[in-house]
Amino acid sequence: MTTRFQLSAGGVVCRRGVGGQLEVVLIATQGGERWSLPKGLVEKGESLEETALREVREETGLEAEIVERLEPIEYWYWWEEDGRKVRYHKKVYYFLMCWRGGDTAEHDFEVEEARWFPIDEAIQRASYRSERQILQQVREREPLPC
Ligand code: ATP
Repeated sequence: MTTRFQLSAGGVVCRRGVGGQLEVVLIATQGGERWSLPKGLVEKGESLEETALREVREETGLEAEIVERLEPIEYWYWWEEDGRKVRYHKKVYYFLMCWRGGDTAEHDFEVEEARWFPIDEAIQRASYRSERQILQQVREREPLPC
């Protein structure tokens, strides 16, 4: 079976909500069924940081500043192409980011919604275990410079 490798980058955008509570942004896709972190494929000539900031801007409508890189996640999925099953091995680098501007109302049309959640709620909402672990890393990283 053919296996293709894909590299993506994205971000955990952080801000302080009411009472100084840590909040992060998740996006809803697949008809609002899936809540996940904003990310996308690294394009030719782009650094991981450039991709992460671009995808955050496009998918959530937010401008952010990178604080640090988090542990990468990896997964495999299958896709049918020309009647053949192709296996993808994907690696995603997420960056911890502080919100600097913009509005979630400006999210991409390919995304159902972009919404701020208190960190504990985001951990419960996130659809993938690996992303819940990324969010846990962020929660444990407190105090954050955001
Ligand atoms: P990108 O956002 O990088 O451009 P994409 O939206 O085309 O990618 P993915 O989000 O990687 O594609 O989704 C491809 C498949 O992998 C889907 O079946 C999705 O459910 C699954 N998937 C996405 N994220 C994860 C994850 N963290 N763990 C396991 N499976 C995942």
